[in-house]
Amino acid sequence: MASKRRIRRRQCDGKRRFCSSREARKAMHAVIRAGKVNGGILHVYRCCFCGGYHFGHVPSNRISNGNQ
Ligand SMILES: [Zn+2]
Repeated sequence: MASKRRIRRRQCDGKRRFCSSREARKAMHAVIRAGKVNGGILHVYRCCFCGGYHFGHVPSNRISNGNQ
């Protein structure tokens, strides 16, 4: 449905896509080293929509402990 398509777009939109987690990690560290990250934790993850790899901020609800 339309809403599902929009979610799919949002997952990949504006994100760089990498063929391997190694490539994604390299790019992620470059961004961190360049000081372009203000706070937050970045991680590399496999995208289940496009099958590639992206990196992005870890959702804050996954960082905090015991928060359900
Ligand atoms: Zn993707």
